Amino acid sequence: MTDPVNTYEVICRTCRTRFKVQLFDSHDKNLFVADKKDWYCEQCKRQYFKKQTTDLAAAHQKIGFSELTGSEKTISWAEKIRAELINKVKYFQQSLKFASDAEKQLSDQAFEKFLADWQSQPQAKWWIDHRQMTVRDISSRISAITDTLKNP
Ligand SMILES: [Zn+2]
Repeated sequence: MTDPVNTYEVICRTCRTRFKVQLFDSHDKNLFVADKKDWYCEQCKRQYFKKQTTDLAAAHQKIGFSELTGSEKTISWAEKIRAELINKVKYFQQSLKFASDAEKQLSDQAFEKFLADWQSQPQAKWWIDHRQMTVRDISSRISAITDTLKNP
């Protein structure tokens, strides 16, 4: 059986395995892409994502977050979401300006409480369910916590 015309052989950059891909531009352009692009075989891609997940998990545990539970696929997705959400919180926290030290202290306390909630969330599904959370959502949650700290 001959391959269809749009099939090209490429080499995995990591393990040098040859494998076939389909490209849909002109033949000249396809040849160029097959030659120049960084290709990775399925196995190396899977390993890459696995390593990415392991690295994120280690970094998150270092800053007090729980190890995630769930299927391999949901955990790998949840670690990425968790990294993005933590970045949103940090970004938001760094953007705040305070009129006094007391105000800043109160705010820091609110963030600590807020993050403690997140740190104790081990379910990958919880993170996936919260993937749409915006800086605005985080901000209103922080304000609510700040209010309860002010009026215990
Ligand atoms: Zn490979």
